[in-house]
Amino acid sequence: MDRRRFAQLSALTLANMQVRISGQSPDSSISPTRRVGIAAVGLGSIAEVFMHAVTASSNARITGLVTGHPAEKGTKFGALYNVPGNSIYTYETFDRLKDNPAIDAVYIALPNSMHCEYTIRAAEAGKHVLCEKPMAISSAECRRMIDACRRANVKLMIGYRTHYDATFRKLRELVRSGALGEIQAYQGGFYGMRNKQQWRLDRSLAGGGSLLDLGIYPLNTMRWFTGEEPESCRGLVATRDKSGAFASVEQSIDWMVKFPSGILGSGGSSYAQSGTNFLTINGTSGHLRLEPAFVYGDAILKYTGTAGDADLSGSGPVYDPDQFVSEATHFADCVLHNVQPSTPGEEGLADLLAIEAIYAAAGSPIA
Ligand code: NAD
Repeated sequence: MDRRRFAQLSALTLANMQVRISGQSPDSSISPTRRVGIAAVGLGSIAEVFMHAVTASSNARITGLVTGHPAEKGTKFGALYNVPGNSIYTYETFDRLKDNPAIDAVYIALPNSMHCEYTIRAAEAGKHVLCEKPMAISSAECRRMIDACRRANVKLMIGYRTHYDATFRKLRELVRSGALGEIQAYQGGFYGMRNKQQWRLDRSLAGGGSLLDLGIYPLNTMRWFTGEEPESCRGLVATRDKSGAFASVEQSIDWMVKFPSGILGSGGSSYAQSGTNFLTINGTSGHLRLEPAFVYGDAILKYTGTAGDADLSGSGPVYDPDQFVSEATHFADCVLHNVQPSTPGEEGLADLLAIEAIYAAAGSPIA
């Protein structure tokens, strides 16, 4: 495949997405001409990134805040995003969101074990939900979230930001076009160091270790690119730190999955390895490597590879400098035009089923 065909594929992917969005029949109570009002729930590090991204979107705005620190964080972010005092809530007053017509939806950026409770409470308040990954800490929780949103007739989208990134969509299209021949295997990893005081090392809040936080990225990409669900899994967990900091979650995990087509996937993640993040895809007549693959912010995603004799090297973001802007825009579009999000609750559930199977295979079950 030459560069021209590669560029054509990218344009097609974007066009298909737009056709799908505009092709649905609007059936929303929100006027399609106004911005969707979103309340951010949990004002930590990723909520800050997301709220900033919303200001760059054309169809959403921050109209509410939910925080355990209304005097400090509520005041600070309220001033930044023009949120009036009566639209700043605590976890105790959360259910009063239902009486606020300026809030159409919530963005849940809480520790993992709180996603289920606040999604269900938001749905019961009649608000659409964009929930951060991992969707929850068990597949049973995911099912409850899906049911609650279905019952309340509200959208449920999971924040898989890479699905809204032009480079990822382009590479997926390329792989699925057969340009690399028959795909044989994926490898992926996401390694990082974490502050030991974080909720991420507390199983009651995190639900598990780095697989739920970081390893979910390569795993989700393999599921998304192949369009298949793992039929068998292997896993190994390891903890070298004997200080007790990793008493409830593992320090490192490596895993393998086999998809029904015979494609193999292997991956790893860790809270102790100072490493990179990457994805490789090997086919019978070509290969691709994306590195860095899963970070956000100032990073430039770089890919190298070949398809037959053609060089596929390039870099992104090409069309979209910020994954969170396109994620927020897609969510708001779905709300405005009554469209099922590209990454609905079912996508989060499928990841949790695979994650549970990997942890179980590693002898370290999480649910
Ligand atoms: P964080 O620690 O920076 O923020 C968590 C927020 O939750 C804080 O405002 C904290 O005050 C609040 N909170 C409420 N109750 C809490 C409790 N009992 N214990 C601890 N905090 C509590 O975390 P974060 O990095 O923003 O992660 C939040 C969620 O977003 C996680 O589910 C994480 O997996 C996800 N995340 C997604 C991305 C992404 O790229 N999409 C990146 C980072 C985090």
